[in-house]
Amino acid sequence: KTAGRACYRVYSAEESEQGQHQQMLSEALVASLKVAPEEFSVMYQPQYDLRSGAMVGMEALMRWRHPELGAVSPGEFVPLAEQRGLIHELTEQLVRCITRDLTRHDFGTHGNMRLAINISARQIADDRLEVLLEPFFTRLQLAGWCPELEITETHLMNLSPRCLDKLRDFGKRGVMVAIDDFGTGYSSLAYLHALPVHVLKIDRQFVQRLGPDSRDSRIVSAILGIADALELEVVAEGIETEAQKAKLQELNCHRGQGFLMARPTPLESLVRQATSG
Ligand code: C2E
Ligand code: MG
Ligand code: MG
Ligand code: MG
Repeated sequence: KTAGRACYRVYSAEESEQGQHQQMLSEALVASLKVAPEEFSVMYQPQYDLRSGAMVGMEALMRWRHPELGAVSPGEFVPLAEQRGLIHELTEQLVRCITRDLTRHDFGTHGNMRLAINISARQIADDRLEVLLEPFFTRLQLAGWCPELEITETHLMNLSPRCLDKLRDFGKRGVMVAIDDFGTGYSSLAYLHALPVHVLKIDRQFVQRLGPDSRDSRIVSAILGIADALELEVVAEGIETEAQKAKLQELNCHRGQGFLMARPTPLESLVRQATSG
């Protein structure tokens, strides 16, 4: 129907199978969010100071393991939760997992450690968000950590002035706001300048194409220049090789995360790392 009238669309077997799979996942997600919170967990991917090698923060990434469907990636279930109007319930689950993890596994006093969560831009308009995040902020404050909210660039572009005000209020409370997957959207410099954000995360597609003399190193360099002009911090994501890391260091990018240093891990193992090394 969306293709317009008088237009036939022929579905291949593969397409309808995919549709059925999506439908099944979607139904399972609705049910699991209601009755099976134990299927959800959170992995933490550390972020490092690329000069000293010190761990300076981490990003919380949600995991869902269904008893029959197995592990479903957030790339699949997050959009489904959005479609089904359940993104708040998902974030609620995320906050529950994080506060539980932080209570069980004591990191000791690691002042200034950042903990970033991903939220969908459309959640910002909803007044429930502040209430939902309250236990997260409170728990982090107890641990002496700084909360960060990551929002994908593409979606930041459509925020209303009221939503921007809300982001500004978060900022006033000491919450950092990051633009995720930077470089994949179409932010104008004027718009970026007006955004109440503090951190820019360079999308991994640019990091992964970093070579000795590639065009992409000039792109990363340009992004660093923009961040510098707007006085934003930068985090490079998706660092997989020593060469990429070296290039980032050379370009004066001081913060990064990626499989080279660490994959998303249960908090427990990170605590062991931090307290043993
Ligand atoms: P993102 O926020 O851009 O997160 C980074 C993704 O890149 C993660 O995938 C992470 O595992 C992966 N990654 C990290 N380092 C590397 C690397 O060196 N190489 C490669 N190839 N990948 C790397 P993940 O965990 O599958 O999450 C995918 C996306 O799902 C996230 O992208 C985020 O947008 C979304 N997401 C995850 N958890 C949540 C959540 O709790 N709430 C919401 N709203 N979205 C979430
Ligand atoms: Mg993110
Ligand atoms: Mg990202
Ligand atoms: Mg992403």
